Amino acid sequence: MRSMIRPEDLLCPRPAGLYCPPGDFYIDPVRPVARAVITHGHADHARPGHGAVAATPQTLRIMAERYGEAFAERREPADYGQTFGRDGVEVTLVPAGHVLGSAQAVVRWRGLTMVVSGDYKRRRDPTCAPFEPVPCDVFISEATFGLPVFTHPDDAGEIARLLRSVAQFPERAHLVGAYALGKAQRVIRLLREAGWTRPVYVHGALERLNRLYESEGVALGPIEPAPLAPCSGALPGEIVLAPPSAIADRWARRFADPVTAFASGWMGVRARARQRGVELPLVISDHADWAELIATFTELRPGELWITHGREEGLLRWAELNGMKARALRLVGYEDEGGEDAPAAQATERA
Ligand SMILES: [Zn+2]
Ligand SMILES: [Zn+2]
Repeated sequence: MRSMIRPEDLLCPRPAGLYCPPGDFYIDPVRPVARAVITHGHADHARPGHGAVAATPQTLRIMAERYGEAFAERREPADYGQTFGRDGVEVTLVPAGHVLGSAQAVVRWRGLTMVVSGDYKRRRDPTCAPFEPVPCDVFISEATFGLPVFTHPDDAGEIARLLRSVAQFPERAHLVGAYALGKAQRVIRLLREAGWTRPVYVHGALERLNRLYESEGVALGPIEPAPLAPCSGALPGEIVLAPPSAIADRWARRFADPVTAFASGWMGVRARARQRGVELPLVISDHADWAELIATFTELRPGELWITHGREEGLLRWAELNGMKARALRLVGYEDEGGEDAPAAQATERA
């Protein structure tokens, strides 16, 4: 029976996103659709305006927080490991290790198992459940950092660099750019693990998601709002978190001579840090680097590998050299890292 079914019959790329014809639903659609399964709350994967949305309870909460309670006509919460049906197609959400509530969608139909990873990483993250490998016929992987040059260092080492800079420049505030969903909370937790007990000051745009994380059991310690108005010598020796766009705009002028930092996987690329005027680049990513991607494919050994949003070519070449059948999906509408810096995501920004 298996041989009768092609993976393309179960999941296929359409302009609105990855579509499942027998189940009549999309995964992370980029346009409004009748039925959606959403892997996680980043703005480019979780968009408002769908009919029914199936996702983890955390992802549904994140969407309601960002878009308002009317973000979809119907919510269909599914805990990790809980299987739900869609016209004979079974879907199970399992942890992806990317951000709070993030999931891989495991799609099963007539003996065929396909896993849509969404975005994922393999290293430890104190703010979310770790990636769970699921044996499958087809693994659909993101490729944000899909080139051998991308090697993310240990995150504790990056936080140690930040704390060394704070000790070295006690008269300056340290402004750390971090995406509002996931990265900001992870940086705060890593600071706590490194022994930073002082309040962490946050830009208004981070407050609601910080509260949501806290209510989901991710303790962040003392948090204070960043000052509302310019004041000279504001917050010397303190750490201030803000969305990356705020670091470069007028908002940052309320701090006298701050050290500007940015926590992102892209900070491993010198030119990107320079281009953004970042003085202290911190290479902290919520995406798998090259080694994590390869380790995942080697561990899973799927019958087929489908690669999407990012740098496909290097991974296709690797698959070819390693005798793994692979193809690029070329889905459009997904951004480099979370799409969190897009103008729409900044609309709710305060102070
Ligand atoms: Zn993505
Ligand atoms: Zn993401």
